[in-house]
Amino acid sequence: MSRPARLIAFSAPSGAGKSTICRKLLERHPEFQLSVSATTRSPRPAERDGVDYFFLSAAEFANRVDAGDFLEHEEVHGNRYGTLRETVERFLAEGKTVLFDIDVNGALAIKAAFPESLLIFIMPPDMEALRARLKDRGSDDDAEIAKRLRRLPMEVEKGRAFDHTVVNDDLMRAVREIETIIEAGG
Ligand code: ADP
Ligand code: 5GP
Repeated sequence: MSRPARLIAFSAPSGAGKSTICRKLLERHPEFQLSVSATTRSPRPAERDGVDYFFLSAAEFANRVDAGDFLEHEEVHGNRYGTLRETVERFLAEGKTVLFDIDVNGALAIKAAFPESLLIFIMPPDMEALRARLKDRGSDDDAEIAKRLRRLPMEVEKGRAFDHTVVNDDLMRAVREIETIIEAGG
C-alpha cells in the first residue's frame, strides 16, 4: 500500500477555482495546512494577513529574498509571491500535510526541492466558465482579468508536466477526485 501524499501543490489558470478547492480540502481535513505564502499584492477585501498571505512591501519582500528565506519565489501578474522555507519545514515537522496554492513555475520548483511532492493542475470546464468565474469573483477589473488570461497558454503548457489534471466542473466532485488521488499517494 502506498502512503497518502504529504506535499501537494495546486496550480491553475487564474479563476479555475484552486483557492476554493484548497479551502474545501482544509475544511474537510484538519491535518492539512496551507503553506501561507508571502506576496507584494494588496489584500482583497476578505483576505487576512498571516492567514491568506503574509502581505509584504516590495522592500520587505526583497530583504527576505536576500536573506534566503524563500524556497521559491516568482513574479506573477506583476506582483511577487514566494513560499517561505520556515513555514513548510515547520508544518512537515508537525506531521501535517502541506497544500500549496501556487503558480506553475512555483509548483515545478517545489517538485525539484521535494521530488515526492504531488502536483495537481486544476482546469476550468471551458473558457466561458473561466471568464464568468473571474468576473463573478469581483476582485479584478477587466484589464486585470485580461492580464490574468494572457498567462493561460504558458500555464496549460507547463501543466502538462504535472502528475494529475482535474477539471473543476462541479466543486464537490472535483474535491472528491482530488481526495482519492491524495489517498492513493499520487
Ligand atoms: P483561483 O484560485 O484558481 O484563481 P478561485 O478559487 O478564486 O480561483 O475561484 C474563482 C471563482 O470561481 C470564485 O468566485 C469561486 O467561488 C468560483 N468557483 C470555484 N469553483 C467553482 C465551481 N466548481 N463552480 C462554479 N464556480 C466556482
Ligand atoms: P492571487 O493573486 O490570485 O492570489 O495569486 C496569483 C497567482 O500566484 C496564483 O497562481 C497563485 O497560486 C500564485 N501564488 C501564490 N502564492 C505563491 C507562491 O508562494 N509562489 C508562487 N510561485 N506562486 C504563488
